[in-house]
Amino acid sequence: MKSDKVLIVEDEVKLARFVELELKHEGYDVYVANDGRDGLNKFYDEKPDIVLLDLMLPELSGIEVCRRIRKTSKVPIIMLTAKGETMDKVLGLDSGADDYVTKPFAIEEVLARMRVALKRVKSFSENSETVMTLKNLTIDIARRIVKVDNEEIELTKREFELLYYLVKNKNIVISRDQILNNVWGYDYIGETNVVDVYIRYLRTKIDDKYNTKYIHTIRGVGYFAKDEE
Ligand code: CA
Repeated sequence: MKSDKVLIVEDEVKLARFVELELKHEGYDVYVANDGRDGLNKFYDEKPDIVLLDLMLPELSGIEVCRRIRKTSKVPIIMLTAKGETMDKVLGLDSGADDYVTKPFAIEEVLARMRVALKRVKSFSENSETVMTLKNLTIDIARRIVKVDNEEIELTKREFELLYYLVKNKNIVISRDQILNNVWGYDYIGETNVVDVYIRYLRTKIDDKYNTKYIHTIRGVGYFAKDEE
């Protein structure tokens, strides 16, 4: 089996080296860049399957590198953040990152997040159903395009997966735990309000924009995507 390629972009050389050795030990094919510009160049050259991206980097910031990668690629990106940089700050910037790990981290946590992200990509590419609908909203699963009427909605990868999961189970009430387990993965370690935060992002981009209620809240239970009023 071909090894997954990982690109580490981290300016703390010792930390980068440590993660590199650990990942190599796990059987990954590893590339390292120590600043944002080199990171972007190595991304284009090596076409990694997943990127571990430090937030504070010389040359180009992690957020900027992430945005540029997202212009051409849906590759999973896990941000490495320092303490005090909250989830809202990191992911709410719409950088397109999939997940984040706070430093100092245990390598097992990074490995767990990587496995979840890589598995998610794989399960999406294996899905045979092509288009799903919710009212006038359509999801082209293979091409990962969401449209309302004929207007395309720009979603981050995680927003897309959350919407996909809700629509796949439309008209069924789903608990936060079910969403967390299916969209973030069973080994997700982090803020438990992440589901609510992402529901809010989706509502801003879809419900509010089109003045239609696609995602309903059942207080104390969870959420559901409703097809008919
Ligand atoms: Ca740094």
